[in-house]
Amino acid sequence: MRLATFQVGEVEHFGIFMVDRYLALDTVGDPDLCDARSFLAAGERGMRRVALLLAGPERDHLPVFSPDAVRLLPPVRHPGKVICVGRNYSEHCTEQGRRPPGEPILFAKFAASLVGHGGAVVLPPQSRKVDFEAELAAVIGRECDRVPVVRALEHVGGYAVFNDISARDLQARDKQWVRAKSFRTFGPMGPHLVTPDEVGDPQALHITLRLNGKLMQDASTRQMIFSVAELVSFVSQVVRLDPGDVIATGTPSGVGAFRDPPRFLAAGDRMQVAIERVGVLENEVVDDVGGEAER
Ligand code: MN
Repeated sequence: MRLATFQVGEVEHFGIFMVDRYLALDTVGDPDLCDARSFLAAGERGMRRVALLLAGPERDHLPVFSPDAVRLLPPVRHPGKVICVGRNYSEHCTEQGRRPPGEPILFAKFAASLVGHGGAVVLPPQSRKVDFEAELAAVIGRECDRVPVVRALEHVGGYAVFNDISARDLQARDKQWVRAKSFRTFGPMGPHLVTPDEVGDPQALHITLRLNGKLMQDASTRQMIFSVAELVSFVSQVVRLDPGDVIATGTPSGVGAFRDPPRFLAAGDRMQVAIERVGVLENEVVDDVGGEAER
C-alpha cells in the first residue's frame, strides 16, 4: 500500500494512493485510519481494515482526488523522532577521506524541518553551502525497545524516500550537526509511505539523486555499511522507538560538497531522489524571501 498525507484546500487528509488518484481514508471515522501514526500503530489490523474498505461498498463513499488537486505533506505528520545515520555507505566515507565507522553514527533532525513531495527547500541566510543527500527512510510501525537484529524488520511499518538537506559550512563550524540538518524544509520526505510488502528486501533497492536532471548519486542500498535491521536494533538499544518514528539510513557518495568542483544548491535547482519500489521525491530549491523582513 502507498499511504499519503495530503492537503486539499485547508483540509488535511490521510489516505491511500491508488494508480492515479488519492482516496481519503480518514473520513471513515475509524481511529486506526485517522492518520499515518495511528495506521502504523495498528499494524496488520490497519492493513486488513484498508483492504476490506477498498473491497467493499464503503469504497464508493470515500472522497477521491486527482494528484493535481492535492498538496502532499510529509507522509508521517509530526513523528516523535527523526533519527539520521552518518557515513553509512563506504564510498561516501572514502569521498570525505574518512574510515568507515565501527558502529552507526546517529544524529537528530528536528521533525519540524520535514516537508513533503513538491514542497520548496528554502536556503537559509546563515549558510552558503547547502547540500543534498539521497536516503532511504524506514518508518517504525510497532513500538520497539531493545529489539534484536533478527526481529528488527518486524517493527518497520513502511518506507519513504528522504533527502537529508545539510548546511555543510555550519556542520563543520558547529562540530555537531543538529542546526546544520534542521533548518525549516531541510527534510524532504515522500511522496508516500510504502508498506514493507511492496518494498521487499530494503537492502536491494536502486537509489539515485538527480540535480536538474543530471545524475549525481547512483547506488544500491546493498552498499549500506549497517543494514536497516541493524540500524533499528542499534537505535532501540538506546531509546524506545514508537510508531511513526523515522530513521534516515544515510547517503551514498556523490553529494555536492565532495565533488570537484563542489556543487552546492542554488535557487531554482530541482532535486529528484528516486528509490526503486519506494518512489520519486521531487523538491525545488528557493531563496529565503519570507525571513528577510524579520532580520
Ligand atoms: Mn544524511
